[in-house]
Amino acid sequence: MGPNLRSPIFGVARMLGCSKVRRFQLVLIKPSHYDDDGYVIQWLRSFIPSNTLAVMNALATDAAARQVLGTDVNIDVTVIDETNTRVKPKAIIARFRKNGGFGLVGLVGVQSNQFPRALDIARPLRAANIAVIVGGFHVSGCFAMLPDLPSDLQGALESGISLFAGEAEDRFDNVIRDAANGQLKPIYNYLNNLPQLTGMPIPYLASGHLTRTFGRHTSFDAGRGCPYQCSFCTIINVQGRKSRGRSADDIERILRENWRQASTGSSSPTTILPVTRIGSQSSIALSNCGSGSRLAPISRSRSIRCVIASRISSTRRSSPA
Ligand code: SF4
Repeated sequence: MGPNLRSPIFGVARMLGCSKVRRFQLVLIKPSHYDDDGYVIQWLRSFIPSNTLAVMNALATDAAARQVLGTDVNIDVTVIDETNTRVKPKAIIARFRKNGGFGLVGLVGVQSNQFPRALDIARPLRAANIAVIVGGFHVSGCFAMLPDLPSDLQGALESGISLFAGEAEDRFDNVIRDAANGQLKPIYNYLNNLPQLTGMPIPYLASGHLTRTFGRHTSFDAGRGCPYQCSFCTIINVQGRKSRGRSADDIERILRENWRQASTGSSSPTTILPVTRIGSQSSIALSNCGSGSRLAPISRSRSIRCVIASRISSTRRSSPA
């Protein structure tokens, strides 16, 4: 139950300045990367939304809804996909200053070719004493596969940038709390403790982000980890050698939530489609959980066009799902 705003006690507290709700700024950025001439690659409409950004947005908004920093702290979640939106460090710094520097910037889903750009975004933020953490396949892959920390990760640590290896489900609350307490650790390594995905917050991006993509698709990962052993693969070293999938209930929730969003938004309901951008990890998980038979009747009854695309098996199934 929230505070009784009309109570005399609350009124006195407010006069004494005790009632001020603090606002923790949680900014999640998926960096783009540089072209050969050093320009940041951006599009007016990017091809498909970042799944990692959708996952992290879901975990962040879930943490905010659960008030993991206490009932007197609001968490403001901001999501930026640099492939279709400019990152403005000065504006971020100004917002943090307005809130007493209280917050965290997460550079999420950072792949190796994006890591230099991630560091360039992080440097002015760190210079303004803003807490910054970087996660994604570059950090995770280096921790999983290299005997020593490479120089770029070492340089990030020396700049006061924290590193996150592994997956954030069930761990992100701790990172947020550490940042709020000014005790962000240099390294969070959860590679040896991979979470189950069943029942976790579903990957989700608001329609305002999806309309910045070509085709207004959304995307989600149905599973992580893979039982195959391709010699060139980083995934199995980072996500493990067995499949962990979302359940059919989870997949149905993703479909329904995106349908609800498309139906209530300004876009036509058929313009935002649940699409999986998947490799074998999600293909395996989708077939294991039997979500196809669950989704088909929903799709047919509501005329939702659902496309499931798999790049590995070179199959492409398009349904009314
Ligand atoms: S099938 Fe894909 S995810 Fe699995 S080991 Fe091979 S490359 Fe990696």
